[in-house]
Amino acid sequence: MSNIQVLLVAGTHGNEINAPWVFDQWAQNQDLIDRYGLKVIPVIGNPLALQKGQRYVDRDLNRSFYPDLLNSLNSSDLEIARAKNLVDLYGPNSNNASQIAIDFHSTTACMGSSLVIYGRRPADLAIVSLIQNRIGLPVYLHEGDPLQKGFLVEAWPCGFVVEIGPVPQMSLNSRIVRQTLLTLKICLEEISKSIDLRSSFPQKLIVHRHLKSIDFPRDSSGKPIAYIHRDLEARDWHPIENGSPIFEDLKGDVIRLSDNSFKDKVFPVFINEAAYAEKNIAMCFTQREVWNFDNSWKDAFYELINS
Ligand SMILES: [Zn+2]
Repeated sequence: MSNIQVLLVAGTHGNEINAPWVFDQWAQNQDLIDRYGLKVIPVIGNPLALQKGQRYVDRDLNRSFYPDLLNSLNSSDLEIARAKNLVDLYGPNSNNASQIAIDFHSTTACMGSSLVIYGRRPADLAIVSLIQNRIGLPVYLHEGDPLQKGFLVEAWPCGFVVEIGPVPQMSLNSRIVRQTLLTLKICLEEISKSIDLRSSFPQKLIVHRHLKSIDFPRDSSGKPIAYIHRDLEARDWHPIENGSPIFEDLKGDVIRLSDNSFKDKVFPVFINEAAYAEKNIAMCFTQREVWNFDNSWKDAFYELINS
């Protein structure tokens, strides 16, 4: 029998309350979600932020898991202490080690449900292939972004984020709750199949690879002077190209996409994400790529699960 343990995290951002609601439902009714015999640990990522209804208290917990911060001795930030605490309790070298971490978030952007991975770890690519093959979710490959690092799931040998939207911060929504619940069930079922090597891996994985993020146009004082153009509003995952309208400024003038590094169509995501306003991100651009499934991903995943 596999000793695999799966860490399920909700409320990493304290103002994303739908996944914590699912955990509360589950605590009330243990039959709500089939564990398929897996050892599963549901945990609230940032309980104090959740209690306060804030994304975080001192800093973004989901940017606090990089080694420099985890090894720092003299930080007073609550989230750095919490990141260390989670790694101490459930990290791969802890007494209660989890090998897989799944971090459930919600987004205010009109992205529907999606999966996010950070970099190209083979086991991550394997598990998102299984889930994409099962329910067709897009996979956002966040890599090559020097401005954003230290994501929670990176501290575990395998892990990914589930993003469900659109839903405002601090707002419960039955559809978001149901989508979160459905995705959680599928994740556990697909992991459980891997224990006895019953997974059906696809031949292809479709990824949306991160290219860059852009900010809103601002005046010299830093105030935004344009908003998302109506043609782009709620058009996450839809391709645009140089010349496509992206912003409309205070005078009503259209600002168009113009980036010499984009040779082909790009696919915007996290358009107008409320949580990214403080990060000066108006949207992220991705490139859609179809990859052949590589058996080394499967081997890495099976080895992790069955070691
Ligand atoms: Zn979040």
